[in-house]
Amino acid sequence: MILTTGLMRNAIVMPEKEAIVDGDYRFTYAQFAGRVAKLKMSLAEAGIQRGDRVAVLMLNDFRYIELLFGVTALGAILVPLNYRLAPEELAFILQDAGAKALVVHREFLKTLPYLREQVPTLSHFVVADEGPADGEELESYEAWIARAPDVPLCYSADVHEDDVAGLFYTGGTTGRSKGVMLTHRNMVSNFYHTSVLTGVSQHSRYLHAAPMFHLADGASMVSITIVGGTHCVIRSFTPKALMQAIEAYKVTSTLLVPTMLGMVMNDPDFKKYDVSSLERVTYGAAPMPLTLLKQVMREFPGIQLVQGYGMTEASPSLTQLTAEYHVVSEGERDERRLLSAGKPVLGVEVRVVDEKGQDVPIGQVGEVIARGDNIMKGYWNLPEETGAVLKNGWYYTGDMGKFDEDHFLYIVDRKKDMIISGGENIYCPEVENILYQHPDVMEVAVVGAPDEKWGEAVVAVVVKKAGSTLNEQELIDFARGKLAGYKTPKRIAFASELPKSGAGKILKRHIREGFWEGMS
Ligand code: ATP
Ligand code: MG
Repeated sequence: MILTTGLMRNAIVMPEKEAIVDGDYRFTYAQFAGRVAKLKMSLAEAGIQRGDRVAVLMLNDFRYIELLFGVTALGAILVPLNYRLAPEELAFILQDAGAKALVVHREFLKTLPYLREQVPTLSHFVVADEGPADGEELESYEAWIARAPDVPLCYSADVHEDDVAGLFYTGGTTGRSKGVMLTHRNMVSNFYHTSVLTGVSQHSRYLHAAPMFHLADGASMVSITIVGGTHCVIRSFTPKALMQAIEAYKVTSTLLVPTMLGMVMNDPDFKKYDVSSLERVTYGAAPMPLTLLKQVMREFPGIQLVQGYGMTEASPSLTQLTAEYHVVSEGERDERRLLSAGKPVLGVEVRVVDEKGQDVPIGQVGEVIARGDNIMKGYWNLPEETGAVLKNGWYYTGDMGKFDEDHFLYIVDRKKDMIISGGENIYCPEVENILYQHPDVMEVAVVGAPDEKWGEAVVAVVVKKAGSTLNEQELIDFARGKLAGYKTPKRIAFASELPKSGAGKILKRHIREGFWEGMS
């Protein structure tokens, strides 16, 4: 199956079904497919061919979804860009991808002269909102759609499911981001793996609240379209925009990363909105602090919570902790489950292995590896890096984890973030979870800092809640006794905020750099 298969069918079997709600824009499946057909034709007329890269620098917009289908229906490759990147980083990705066209939102036009100069392969610039202003030599997305003749959306004979559909650049959390080649088959498989058992259906009204350029949300462009659900869109996330949209669009499901849920819980107004339509919230893409999860469970008692664990390279889902494990209970066993990333989704195999690739015993930590039809074809232009992670048919995630006796998977840390202190491995989320129990801690990141005696020492960078007078010693004392001595932070640094990636993940490498500067 290629990505557009579901859209083509829905245009025929449910033409009047609401497909898109985005502010004043509302489209049925017939209209949605019609616009995608016109877009595909306009792209072809502009000279975009099979295999060409079309980059997108946009906030969330229903046109993003149209672009995913229009570009890939032509056999071309979509390259979603993280709009929080600096112009130099954007230029790097566009050069790396060899992008031929760039579709932008008006707010990013100011970087265009620079990108035009830096990326000689770019020959088409398209403005995706109201269109270019007078005098601007840019193409207009809406003018393209308006000009193209009405044609039904249909297959292009030379587009196959093993063709690359998207080049999704990784979050750049641990280093320079890499272009992940995902084929039509990879992305459609992720839909089967996650949707068959989790009740996503025509009835779903999914809110794209997390950034669409990140696959955590982007995967829903595929799944919601295939099942004939409704895409609800907000330009970008704020707690207010989220809550308003849930109420106004009668949203039934959404996906939020932990930092977003933290922001909602810290917003004094979040209870003012009617969220009775909301059935399910998926969270994931980064470790979820246990105190925050329990708070969300308390505040939204009727809402099913599902944790997703995965990565861009897996299109993105590997495991899910399903709703039945998110039941408020004081039982120790249940609480332990909340720290788990759950079990593999349908069609995905997961193992935990040692340095030699051998399975480690239950309860022991090793690297998480996985295989399934969702695993990427490889990294774009990076054969060595590809070879380092795709070995003997398995994908090596770079995440450390363990299984329990009931085959629940626990992600304990990233391999690159683990601290080794006096020969002992320390997994940062375990320490973070303890510090989060302090009522004055709003956000925390634990990293390893250089230490003469221990090699590395545990250091926590903490953002306090407004008005808190918490000091370093008080917080260290709080953690002592709850953690083994070698895991207890040696130092606490307070900060007004933590550096985050475009996907809302804490950038530990930036925090670490601060402590390691000047060290050889
Ligand atoms: P880069 O690969 O460029 O450093 P990144 O790994 O953050 O960036 P993504 O593909 O967006 O890029 O993120 C995948 C990673 O996020 C996983 O490898 C894992 O470390 C983390 N992650 C995802 N889901 C979860 C989860 N539920 N719990 C804990 N960590 C998670
Ligand atoms: Mg990664």
